[in-house]
Order: sequence, then C-alpha cells, then structure tokens
Amino acid sequence: MSESKRTGRELEIALSNAKQNITLLRTQLQTGRIDAKYFDQRLEALATLLEDIDAENKNVKSQRRVAALYEVSRVIGSSLNLQTVLDQVMDAIIQLTGAERGFLMLLDDDGKLNVKVARNFDQETLGKEDMAFSRTITRQVFETGTPVVTTNAQEDPRYAGQASIIAHAMRSIMASPLRARGQIIGVVYVDNRIRAGLFSEEDLDALDAFATQAAVALDNARLYTQTDAQLQARLEELQILQWIDRQLNESLDANRTMHLTLEWASRLAHAHAASMGLIDYNEGAIYITATYGERSPFADTMQISLQHPLIAEVIEAGRAVQDGTLCVPIRLENTVIGVMVFAAEDVVFDDNALELVSRMADRAAIALKNGQLYQAVKAADLAKTEFVSVVAHELKVPMTSIRGYASMLGMVGPLQDRQNEFVNVIVNNVERMKILVDDLSDISRIESGQLKIDIQSIDVANIANQAVDGVMAQMQDRGHEFKQNIAPQLPPVMADPSRLVQVLVNLMSNAYKYTPDGGKITFSIQPDGNAVQFSIQDTGIGMTPEQVAKLGTKFFRVAENEHVAQQSGTGLGFVITRNLIELMGGSLDIASEVGKGSTFSFRLPVA
Ligand code: ADP
Repeated sequence: MSESKRTGRELEIALSNAKQNITLLRTQLQTGRIDAKYFDQRLEALATLLEDIDAENKNVKSQRRVAALYEVSRVIGSSLNLQTVLDQVMDAIIQLTGAERGFLMLLDDDGKLNVKVARNFDQETLGKEDMAFSRTITRQVFETGTPVVTTNAQEDPRYAGQASIIAHAMRSIMASPLRARGQIIGVVYVDNRIRAGLFSEEDLDALDAFATQAAVALDNARLYTQTDAQLQARLEELQILQWIDRQLNESLDANRTMHLTLEWASRLAHAHAASMGLIDYNEGAIYITATYGERSPFADTMQISLQHPLIAEVIEAGRAVQDGTLCVPIRLENTVIGVMVFAAEDVVFDDNALELVSRMADRAAIALKNGQLYQAVKAADLAKTEFVSVVAHELKVPMTSIRGYASMLGMVGPLQDRQNEFVNVIVNNVERMKILVDDLSDISRIESGQLKIDIQSIDVANIANQAVDGVMAQMQDRGHEFKQNIAPQLPPVMADPSRLVQVLVNLMSNAYKYTPDGGKITFSIQPDGNAVQFSIQDTGIGMTPEQVAKLGTKFFRVAENEHVAQQSGTGLGFVITRNLIELMGGSLDIASEVGKGSTFSFRLPVA
C-alpha cells in the first residue's frame, strides 16, 4: 500500500492550485500560444497529484479498517457472550466492506457448517427468507482454507453456472476461513447482490484479518462457555454430594445407605443400572446387597466368587476398573469392603464419572462403618437392658420373700419393741431397694428405646385417686397441708394409666420430700383447651435455675443441700418421670425458686 507524501491540508492546496493550472492551460490552448515544455510540466504535476490522491484514499480506507479492527478487538475484549461477540464482529465487517449482508458459519459437532450469524447492513438479524447464500463458495473456502473474492459472480467463470448464484442474482461475494488453534472452525461470508465490483483483494485482506480476530474471539467465548458450563456442572455435583452426605450421615441404616449411594452414583455417572455388593473374605464371596435400575449387573446371582476376573482385579488394584461395565471398589482403611458395578448403554464412563463415583464409594464406606458402629452400640445397649431386667427380676423374687417373711414375723408370735423396730428397718430398706431396682430397669429400657407404653383413653379422676392414695400417708406424716384442686368434670385423656400414676406419685413424692415438714402442697388438674393440665406445687426448698437445668441428668441430686441429703432417693426418678411424660406426648414445665418452692406441670391431650 503506497503512502501519501502530502498531508490532507497540503493536498487541498495542491488541488486548488491544480484547478487554477488547468484553467491556465485551457486559456493557452484557446489562444494557441502553447509552451510545450510548460504544458508537460503541468501535466506531470497533475499526474503526481492524482497518485497522491489515490494513495490518500487508500490510506483513509486502511485507517477505517484499522479503526474497525480496533472496534472488533474492543468488542471481543468486552464480552464473553458468544452471540454478542459474533453479532458485533459481523456488523463491523459489514460496515467496513460496504457489504449488503454477512453470514458466519461454524462447524458444529454434527460435522455440518451451521449459520450462527446472519446480519444485514442495518445491523438486523436476517430471517429465514433472506438466508440464501452461495453454499458452493462457503464449502470451498472451508475445505481449501483459502479465501475467495469475486467482484461479479454472474460473470465469474468459477461460479457463473451455480444454481444459487443465478437464482439469487449474486454479484459481489467475499468469504474467508475462520481458524482457531490450527483448525478451520468455520467461514465468514459477505455479499452484495446489487452492486458488482464492490470488493477488492484488499477488502479480502481486511476480511481475513477480521476472520482471524473473530476466530480467536469465538474460541475464547466458546472456551468460556464450556468452562462456565463445567463450573456449573461441578457446582451442581458438589451440591448433590453435599445433600447425599447429609442423607448418609443421617442414615445409620446400612440398607438405606447402600440404596441411596447406588442410586445417586448411578445418576451422577449416567448409568442405567448398577449393583452393590459387600465382601465376605471368610466365604471368599461378594453378596449383592443393593441393585438399581433394570437388568442390573450380577442381579441374577446373589453371590459372586472373589475369583471373578473383574472383581479380583478391582480388589487387587484397589481402584476402579472399566470393562464394558464400571467396577468401583468401596474401600475402608486400605481394605476393599465391597464393590459397585455400573452399566450404561453406549456410554464410556469418563474420568469425571469415575472420580465422582469413587468419591461416592468413599462416603458410602464411612456411612456403612458408622452404621456398623451404631448397630454394635445398639446391640450392646440391648444386651445391657436385658442384663438389667434379668438382674431386676432375680432381685425382686428374694426381695418379695424377705419383705413377706419380715411382715409375717409378728404373726408367728409376739415381738418385743426392739424386734418390731428391726422388722420395720428391714421392710423400709426392702421398699427402697424395690424402688431402686424398678428405677434402674425403667431407665435402662428408656435408654434403649425398649420401654413400651400403652396409651389409651383414661378417666383422669380415677388415676388422680390412685396417685393420691399412694402419697397420702407420707403427706400426713410430714404434717403437710395437702390441697387438691381437681376440676369436677374432666374429659378423658390419652395416656398409659399405670405410667401416669407413676408420674404423679413421683412428682408428689418429691414435693413432700423436698418441702420441710408442715409445708403446703397443691395438686391441681384443670381442663385447658384440647388438653388437661396437671400440676404439683410445693412450698419447699426450691432450686436454682442451674439445678433445674441439671434435673434431666441421671443420678443428679442437689447433694450440697442438707435437706436433700436427709431424704432417701436415687436421682433417677425425675429422669424417668420426664421421659414418661414425653412418651405420652406431653412436656414438663418447671418453675422453681430457692426457699419459696417449686411447681411441676404438664399437659396431656384430651381423648
Ligand atoms: P431423687 O428424689 O430420687 O433424689 P429425682 O430425680 O426425683 O431424684 O430428683 C432429683 C433431684 O432434684 C432431687 O434430689 C432434688 O435435689 C431435686 N428436686 C426434685 N424435686 C424437687 C422439688 N420439688 N423441690 C426441690 N428440689 C427437687
């Protein structure tokens, strides 16, 4: 490209000089006085001027190209949205070349060149009806990788015979390949159906430069979209894994853990079916413990030998093996404890699927281990409960006998006062032992979830009478004023009758025990909406909020209090009472103040 020797302003002056010179030469011609040498000099000057103007023109065009190229780079830098980039790049190309329309085609995964952008001069996207362009030319450019320009396709021997060229009266056409990372990824194509001779070889250079820029932009945007999509997928995977983790952590049931793991691992790996098996090394076999989907691998046999080639390889290698199916080990501390086998129709499991499924296997191993530990703890608990109930039973038999014979001592002959006193001590202590043994067996059953309660519709007044009968003597012995505030017409409630008596006796016993003699104890039962409210109030020693908070702890007693120390007790009664109320669907409220007294209340639903 030649450079103009003169600036724009100098050219303007030269042009006006040239006009004057032409007028002068014309006058010389008319008068017939021609100085040949002068004439030749002027013509020479005019020729130089024309060359300069031409060069300047080209310069302006190339400046416009540079500006347009700059515009394209700016667009590319400012947006990673593929369609925005494509549209803007194409608009810039159309503006620059003066083309009527522009198309950008990319090679898609299906191996076809598909139109991604179709724009007109007014920066509008073209509709289907305007989509006619020369596919011969685009194909040729794509296949040869060489750009093409034709100034009048109608007369160009290369294309004149093509149906589309004739049908759409195509004239100026220019097309250039899009290259990214050494590969042709598509074609840019601009045309003008009305004007012939629109494009020059230099325009083709410009188009090529655009194509290079556009290809880079496209590649970036595509990569970005992919990275974005991959990130999104990763995020979703993480969310799913987090959800599964939570589910697995909550589940201590091995069966559920295995089904959950298998189902989610299959979904994540896009497997249509899968099986999970746990290894029994003593038996030298794997037992299928969970299956997912139809026709899951090994579903027809429940037991597979560890000699099975695929299984043997996975155990030996300690990592996943792909062989038509995907076989993933479930490892716990360097030992393969099981396998998951996945099957998919025409899917080769990729690294991502493999990694995901392996992660799931690790989680499953931990969950299964937790489940096993939980089962072991549960079994130990059960054993403890059984032991305590056997011991309790074995103790109760001789205790009943001791109590019986002690009471009968006086029946076989008169007893001296001292002897009577001793008999009373024996009876009282056997009573205390009985309470302790009963409490122990209740606690152990509550803790292992073995305590069965029998909820039924019950008559409250009857239960209240039974409970009062159990404590009346002690109330009187201790000189307490015992007030009953029981509503006359109470609806039946849902509760276990003997357990409700136990609860009320426990609370009233505490009330009389932890109230200095001569106090006041009030037992109230009142209807309260859809429930019945029970409450026991005393004017006793009371408790601090810290002591109240510790009430649910086994064997807790306010030991530092002298009054408490004087009362017999185990520190188990309250734990049992609270649990029984909760098992019956109520909850216990405590209000207490040191030196003033305490109120224990709970509500049970009306039947
Ligand atoms: P126990 O009466 O066998 O010691 P509980 O479990 O029934 O065991 O009660 C635990 C402790 O709570 C008691 O030892 C006592 O310190 C305190 N407590 C229970 N009820 C009352 C009450 N009504 N007033 C004051 N303190 C109480």
